[in-house]
Amino acid sequence: MAKIIVVASGKGGVGKTTVTIGLGKALAAGGARVLLVDFDHLRSVDLMLGAAEDVVFDWGDVVLGRCAVEEALLQAQGVSFFACPPSYDGITARQVRALITQAEPHFDYILCDAPAGIGTGLVLAAAAAQRAIVVATPDLVCVRSACRAARELESLGVKSSRLVINRAVRSDIRRKRLLNIDDVIDSTGVQLIAIIPEDKRLRTAGMEGGVYLRNQLSYEAFTNLAGRVQGRNVPLMYLFI
Ligand code: ADP
Ligand code: MG
Repeated sequence: MAKIIVVASGKGGVGKTTVTIGLGKALAAGGARVLLVDFDHLRSVDLMLGAAEDVVFDWGDVVLGRCAVEEALLQAQGVSFFACPPSYDGITARQVRALITQAEPHFDYILCDAPAGIGTGLVLAAAAAQRAIVVATPDLVCVRSACRAARELESLGVKSSRLVINRAVRSDIRRKRLLNIDDVIDSTGVQLIAIIPEDKRLRTAGMEGGVYLRNQLSYEAFTNLAGRVQGRNVPLMYLFI
């Protein structure tokens, strides 16, 4: 059975899609079969995988009976993915669960990339998930909203959430300009699973070969995150802080 994980945040633009793709590709590099499902109408997954031109059908077309699942299921950079429909009109959580149940036997991990906030997109992205990863940058507003998203996920039945701190900058954290990592953990009440450093190569990842490349500063952090998601006892990387 696949492990189904929703990747969420309260605030937008904190790196959910980057983390979804980085984690997905790291899991795939270790031999896992990985499916990414985009739940954000902005459709960043196919773009960041450099496969926007390949998309003809999305998962909405599948659940609404407009195409076969094989027509919407695409592959890029070692992972499979479904693009997001332009609207959720007429789409229910039950249909999403049915789609993911259908895909489940073919994958080891299914990562559902949620949109920002706690609206319909999150409800659908969480519909089949057993666990959640909430992403925050190390600042108070972001951490509070991640905490809120974790609570919302709990009320949607996703009881187990882990926190990823993204875009951590050593010098800022040292000078206490940003929230200290320990404060972040305390204020979310959600256990930390990874710290991903600020990586200038990720800022342009959509245009320059993508996320999770060996020459990127964040490469090892994603490898370690994948190890922990797989239940291995990989120490948390505090080294660069
Ligand atoms: P979200 O899915 O939460 O909206 P994205 O993954 O699209 O966020 O990331 C938003 C922007 O931040 C993108 O331009 C992305 O390249 C950049 N970004 C994400 N993570 C990092 C990082 N660790 N270092 C540098 N830039 C990052
Ligand atoms: Mg996104």
